[in-house]
Amino acid sequence: QRDLYEQIRALPSVTQDGIPISLSINAAFLVDFAEMERVGAEGCGLFRTELAFMTRSRFPDTDSQAAHYREVLDQAHGRPVVFRTLDVGSDKHLPYWRMPPEDNPAMGWRAIRMTLDRPTVLRSQLRALLKAAAGRVLHVMFPMIAEVAELEAARRLLDMEIERATARGAELPERIEVGAMLEVPSLYWQLPALLKRVDFVSVGSNDLFQFLFACDRGNPALVDRYDVLSPPALSFFRDLIERCRAAGVRLSVCGEMASRPLEAMALIGLGLRHLSLAPSEVGPVKAMLRSIDVGRLEQYLRRLLDLPDHSLRGRLQAYAQDHGV
Ligand code: PEP
Ligand code: MG
Repeated sequence: QRDLYEQIRALPSVTQDGIPISLSINAAFLVDFAEMERVGAEGCGLFRTELAFMTRSRFPDTDSQAAHYREVLDQAHGRPVVFRTLDVGSDKHLPYWRMPPEDNPAMGWRAIRMTLDRPTVLRSQLRALLKAAAGRVLHVMFPMIAEVAELEAARRLLDMEIERATARGAELPERIEVGAMLEVPSLYWQLPALLKRVDFVSVGSNDLFQFLFACDRGNPALVDRYDVLSPPALSFFRDLIERCRAAGVRLSVCGEMASRPLEAMALIGLGLRHLSLAPSEVGPVKAMLRSIDVGRLEQYLRRLLDLPDHSLRGRLQAYAQDHGV
């Protein structure tokens, strides 16, 4: 198997019927970028900035953040890197930040909720990103956006930092692309307003799934209770993919779902064309997509979504087997 992944590393990421699928990696540390090269990924679709903050003994100042992000961009050698702003709280804690105890931390004071309440923190991170990406392309993504007003508030802070840098005569990024993570279901019902205001959307399927099904992503008693390969979850993706495509906004999935070949196959069959995944899974997912005929898969999948089944996993597995995936 490893040999196979090695062999297809340099081959195009294209399905049997000629549809290109972009594969990026999820990263958090500089070492991940060596992996990006090694597995032949197109870029980094999710850079979890908070993980580097977690390994420090105090909150890094703007300059040290900028130096770190600059190094990340250097290591990416011109390939796009999507920087997700701090997603602390819930399962990710900073040792030097005391967090109030919460009954429901996953639904608590975390990510964009926290950084909008502490704008100096978010501004410092945005300032560092603008500085690091001077003369290059900057992709910024805001996590846990539940309503468009939160995105607007975050964008205002970004605009303030752009104005500040301009007033100081600092070199700006050549282009700035702004995206939102879709991982809180409410945002789906504001899609028209959202899609007018972002360059891209990325689904955090780990959190999205937990909120769609009201099912704690970390509770071992629930791991087999619901399936992402079920009619409600896949119908959600079908509608989301269609609406983003109609609006011409790039949509990717960066949760663990995209890292699993069968799940990735289903997403591609529903029209998804961008996946961001664990570096170790690029080989298996690429092998899968190079063997599928999307046209045929699409037709098969559409018929499944109305079934009352608890899970479509068995059927999709059988389809994959029958079609030599
Ligand atoms: C997700 O929720 O799917 C996601 C990609 O973000 P994280 O796992 O870091 O919460
Ligand atoms: Mg998340």
